[in-house]
Formats: sequence, structure tokens, C-alpha cells
Amino acid sequence: MLRFADLLEKHTGEVAKLETWDNGKPYEQAAKIEIPMVVRMFRYYAGWADKIHGFTVPADGQHHVQTLHEPYGVCGLIIPWNFPLLLYSWKVGPALACGNTVVLKTAEQTPLSAIYVSKLFHEAGLPPGVLNVVSGFGPTAGAALSSHMDVNKLSFTGSTATGKIVLALAAKSNLKPVTLELGGKSPFIVCKDADVDKAVELAHSALFFNQGQCCCAGSRTLVHESVYDEFVEKAKARALKRVVGDPFKTGIEQGPQIDNEQFKKILKYIRSGIESGATLESGGEQFGSKGYYIQPTVFSNVQDDMLIAKDEIFGPVQSISKFKDLEEVVQRANASSYGLAAGVFTQNIETANTLTRALRVGTVWINCYDIFDAAVPFGGFKMSGQGREKGIYGLSSYLQVKAVVTPLKNPAW
Ligand code: NAD
Repeated sequence: MLRFADLLEKHTGEVAKLETWDNGKPYEQAAKIEIPMVVRMFRYYAGWADKIHGFTVPADGQHHVQTLHEPYGVCGLIIPWNFPLLLYSWKVGPALACGNTVVLKTAEQTPLSAIYVSKLFHEAGLPPGVLNVVSGFGPTAGAALSSHMDVNKLSFTGSTATGKIVLALAAKSNLKPVTLELGGKSPFIVCKDADVDKAVELAHSALFFNQGQCCCAGSRTLVHESVYDEFVEKAKARALKRVVGDPFKTGIEQGPQIDNEQFKKILKYIRSGIESGATLESGGEQFGSKGYYIQPTVFSNVQDDMLIAKDEIFGPVQSISKFKDLEEVVQRANASSYGLAAGVFTQNIETANTLTRALRVGTVWINCYDIFDAAVPFGGFKMSGQGREKGIYGLSSYLQVKAVVTPLKNPAW
């Protein structure tokens, strides 16, 4: 794994190019942010590989008890298209570190980078058969993997709707355990004492990063009434400055959406926002006349019952609404079937502590957002998922525990 990480680092340019070709994300983002995170992830889990072991248990009675932490064997891994290689690393890294073998299915939109880097893995010395990559469609290849009787563990990242299907297939076949990383509608809460300029910038990147195609996108921007007008004005100004265009050019912040289906879906949500009475502050249409580019779009005056406030849009559409007090914002932030992440912006430690404990989400970022170190666990509450990836928590998804009990003295039969 360490040799692989070195090789990947050496080939950063080619791999980033494949990610941009396949996905449309800015090349600079892939090369400077994502591939280095992938390298770091493999180095992190390589470090764990010789530190995975069981415990001795001081059980009652005259027995020596130990646990063995064993791999499952064959793990089926299914990933989406929004961060093809990053999510590959979140799953392949811990699965291999724990001694499993892997069959990974890439998303149909983005098959290239996984194939390329898996060849590097073999060049690094991984034995044949340990890491297998399948390109294919969800209802065929993905479903076959989920229901296969020889796959002992499944880890899935994608939409909540597909997560339910995959879980049912696992249950109907061999009851393989399933880790699920699903969708989100994450609140980004700006309190009255927040540093507004910083909050505007972070709220902007929390939503618009990766063309808005992030599971943890800060897609409900909730702003205290005392700073609301200032925030909306600045958020609009920032969106108007966002640099959209050819993702291979330098300085580009936003490329095209992944495909025509998502492009049309996002424009439909924008129309629904306008029709339901939200105020369109900026954007709202296709950017230019060619390709799946969408103007960075900001809505203010968004009400909780609007579709744009409830559904995961997965596009460059920021929805801003106003709140009065903490109790109200907690209730509204938690009134979602999702529970992936939240951002809290305040300079008051009590407010930060109160919100952190009240929010039913897997990650709370305080005065920051999208911090994804390899060691930090990630996953969802409620319908955003089951289990955790990354860090020490990510290992337990790929290990099963065996208890071994031995009498201290020879039993007298
Ligand atoms: P998706 O669910 O359509 O597809 C994800 C993967 O599942 C793809 O590989 C697809 O081929 C496969 N798939 C589709 N149907 C299947 C089936 N019947 N059986 C087995 N596999 C099947 O999701 P998407 O649109 O590609 O990705 C976007 C979604 O992923 C968003 O909802 C986003 O929030 C979520 N996501 C979550 C995380 C997280 O960590 N929580 C990270 C990234 C993306």
C-alpha cells in the first residue's frame, strides 16, 4: 500500500486528468486536493495494517479468553461518480489493510480512474485477485454484487434510494453486513455572533464545491435574522464572482454537472424554487449555451416546506433562510430524514456546544467545513447511512470478531 501511494503520487497528473475527463470537475481541484487526499488515505491505512489485533478478556471462571479480529474475505464495494477515486480510497484502503479481498464496482459515469490506479496497485506488488474492479451498471453489476452468495461484506456509497435496494438484496441473499454512506441535506447554521465574511465564504464553498455534487453539501443555509440581510447580499456577490468554465483551464472553480440527467434535474429544482416563491438572488439558468454548465444559483427567503429545502438537489443551488433563536434552528435543522453533517458558525463556545450536542448528524464542523482528514470518521445518522468510514472507526466495517476460549487447566472430562 505504501508503494502504491508513492506510485499514485508520481502519477497525480494523469489520474487527475482522468477524473476531470470522466467527471467534469476542475483539474486543479482533482490534482491539488483530491489525489493528495487519496495518497494520504492509503498511507494512513497502510499504517494500520500491522496494528490490527484482538484483545485478551478477563472473563469470569477458569478460562483464558482472547479475541481475533479477522477479515471477512470477499468485500463488495460500490461507489458513486461524484468523487470516484476519493471514495475508492475510503473503501479499498481499510478493506485491504484488514486483509480482505475486494470486488469494486465503479459508477457507470466514471469508470476510468479506478481501472488506471488498480493497475498501479498491481505494479506495486499486490497479488493478482486481491483487488478486482468491475465497470458496470447498477441494476445489473451492482445488484449482482449485492446479492452474491460469496460476497461476505458490502460497502455502498450512493443515494438513499439505492442504499435501500442494496440493503434488501443483501438481506435476501446471505445476510451480508452492509455499510451505507448515503445522501444528505446538511444545515449550515450562521449564528448572530458569527464572523459573517468568513461564514459567507465557507457557506459558499460548502455548497458549490464539486459543482454542488457533495453528499455533505451545506445545502440548507440557515442564517440568524440579525445578520441575514448582510449575509444574503454577500452570498449573492460571492456566487456572481464564481468562475465557471472549461475544467481543464487554470483558475476555474466550477465545471459542468456530471450528465444530462443531473443537469435537467437541477434546472427543474431551480424552476420549482422560483414557482414556490423563493427569491432568486443570482443564477437560475444554464451557463452559456453548450455543455452541462449551470449558473451558480442563490435563493433567499426559502421556506422549509419548499422542495428545494427538502430534497437533495446535488447541484450549484444555495438555499438561504432566516431563523430567530437556537431552539427554532435546532428543531428545523433536525427536521429532515437525513443526518449527514452540519456547519455551525458562532464565536460563542456555549452556542457551539449546545448546537453540537443537539444536532442529529454524523459530523459537526464548527467555524469550518469539509475538513476530511483520513483519521476523522465520517458517516450518517438517520437515512444518511449506517456505519462509519475513515479513521479507526472505518476498520471495524471490514473486520469480524472471533472469541477464542481456552480452559486455564486441562478440563477433567
Ligand atoms: P446512485 O445510488 O444512483 O449510484 C451509486 C452506485 O450505486 C453506482 O455505482 C450505481 O451504479 C450503483 N447502483 C445503482 N443502482 C443499483 C442497484 N439496483 N443495485 C446495486 N447498485 C446500484 O447514486 P449517484 O447518483 O451515483 O450518487 C449520488 C448520491 O451519492 C447522492 O445521493 C450522494 O449524497 C451520495 N453520496 C454519499 C456519500 C456519503 O459518504 N454519504 C458520498 C458521496 C455520495
